[in-house]
Amino acid sequence: MTRRFVSTFKAPKGTYDLLPPESADFLAVREALARPLRRSGYGYVETPGFENVELFARGVGESTDIVTKEMYTLTTKGGDELALRPEGTASVLRAALEANLHKAGNLPVKLWYSGSYYRYERPQKGRYRHFSQVGAEAIGAEDPALDAELILLAHDAYRSLGLRDFRILLNSLGDKRCRPAYRAALQEFLRGLDLDEDTRARIEINPLRVLDDKRESVQRQLTGAPMMRDHLCEECKTFHEEVRSLLTDAGVAFEDDPRLVRGLDYYTRTTFEFVHDGLGSQSAVGGGGRYDGLSEMIGGPALPSVGWALGVDRTVLALRAEGVELELPAATEVFAVPIGEEARRRMFALVTALRREGVAADLAYGGRSMKNAMKSANRSGARYALLLGERDLAEGVAQFKDLHSGEQTSVSLDRVVAELTAKLR
Ligand code: ATP
Ligand code: MG
Repeated sequence: MTRRFVSTFKAPKGTYDLLPPESADFLAVREALARPLRRSGYGYVETPGFENVELFARGVGESTDIVTKEMYTLTTKGGDELALRPEGTASVLRAALEANLHKAGNLPVKLWYSGSYYRYERPQKGRYRHFSQVGAEAIGAEDPALDAELILLAHDAYRSLGLRDFRILLNSLGDKRCRPAYRAALQEFLRGLDLDEDTRARIEINPLRVLDDKRESVQRQLTGAPMMRDHLCEECKTFHEEVRSLLTDAGVAFEDDPRLVRGLDYYTRTTFEFVHDGLGSQSAVGGGGRYDGLSEMIGGPALPSVGWALGVDRTVLALRAEGVELELPAATEVFAVPIGEEARRRMFALVTALRREGVAADLAYGGRSMKNAMKSANRSGARYALLLGERDLAEGVAQFKDLHSGEQTSVSLDRVVAELTAKLR
């Protein structure tokens, strides 16, 4: 049997490649999600793409889908048990603790991040095995203004991109004073329902998660379930009211959603999600909340904190669903078309000089025909083509062609850079 040489590889299941021109939108979204954070006192943090698996087991939670089903784990040749990061919060908190950022006396420590995350999920539109998030964490302060700040910054980021059809869902999960009694009441209620075995098991480990079950058969039975909001202690109520009124004062609309949960013991109080109505079942574009107990779970001191993560992939899909066209700076402003060897050398120098002046310039490489090169010029989206032939060289000029109007003018070679720069600025 002859072995056929495999000439085509495919991206792994559940992943996709970002290619031009769409990749420019993706970069712009990442940038726009981060911009409000940069001007609000958040410093950039970057952590490794993998961590000790135990960090996520504890920092995300043994009973979560992320840890039980979705993690990419590996054993290194040296015997370390690692996992590709499925989310950002645990790593960022680990990094802050390791560097003692919280001891410098200026709490909260405000950090933002952007990068790739990995979850072994069932791939579908808006749900991938490799995806991208921009996230923010405010570590070490129990201040409702921080919760409000983060929600506002995400809101403003989405708005700056031109998104409109998103909603903010808000809830409070209580804290270690009031949640245990609520949890018990909820368990009691849930045990009386007609549920499958997995869900019954979940009642014992993570009952709040059951509220989040998307199945109609489950949701139907949840009418009349006890709600956290009716069990909040005074401190939690006051805290939540303050978050709500800060948002209202800022003119940001939100919906109280008593069933919105993050089912872990160390998620406390504020919890929120940004949902977009044009995305079908993968409707969450971002989410977050308070995690006052997380630092202690990973061996740190008590550091009440709040954060969010916004999905870049789904934000791009949401923009498409709304038909928003991002206004991006031109990838190429000037496209140079040299005819002949000497012209190529001169053009190379001109393009270099233009770039150094900040003009986005490209050149027809590969000794292509004039016709072919002009096609590239048009495809590049450039405003001007810069033409240089043998006769031009002899006369010491180059031709500017305005690719919008078709108008062509002759400019002396030593004025090319100055004139083009002036025209474009
Ligand atoms: P979902 O309920 O959709 O699974 P999640 O609660 O697991 O979301 P988070 O862990 O809160 O999501 O992550 C924050 C954001 O990251 C989500 O709102 C979403 O936009 C994005 N995200 C999460 N998982 C994926 C994925 N597999 N593919 C693409 N984006 C994702
Ligand atoms: Mg998920």
